[in-house]
Amino acid sequence: MDCTDYRMMVTMREDGELGPDRLAMLDAHLSVCGACRVFEAAVRETTALHASLVEMAPPPSILEGVIAEVGRPARAGLFAGWRRFAVPAAAIFVLVAGVIAGGQIGRTTLGADGDADASFGLEYLEEYPPGSVGDLVVSYLEGGETDE
Ligand SMILES: [Zn+2]
Repeated sequence: MDCTDYRMMVTMREDGELGPDRLAMLDAHLSVCGACRVFEAAVRETTALHASLVEMAPPPSILEGVIAEVGRPARAGLFAGWRRFAVPAAAIFVLVAGVIAGGQIGRTTLGADGDADASFGLEYLEEYPPGSVGDLVVSYLEGGETDE
């Protein structure tokens, strides 16, 4: 345990989450560590300040101000509403560009009737990859010859 652990315990004690055995450990550390005592004092002060705050309901004028601000009509102009369409337009552009690029990549790497496993070197994902014991057994059971 280092000072970071003890400082975590200080905050846990403030929340009432520390059992008696760990409380004793914390007190023993605080008796010999001045830096953690400073931290403990700051935590106590912050907790006391927080507890002294009173909860207030916002005055009704704030809500009226927000409604008045939000309800205002947008500025009129040629490009006044462009932001509303910018994100969907960008998303559609990226989607279309991705489909086009994917099609191009597929045509250049696979050819018109290409085999994806062979083109991308994914033979090892097959049930019995080439060169595996399974491939050897299957070819033996099928009566075929191995290629070795
Ligand atoms: Zn310490």
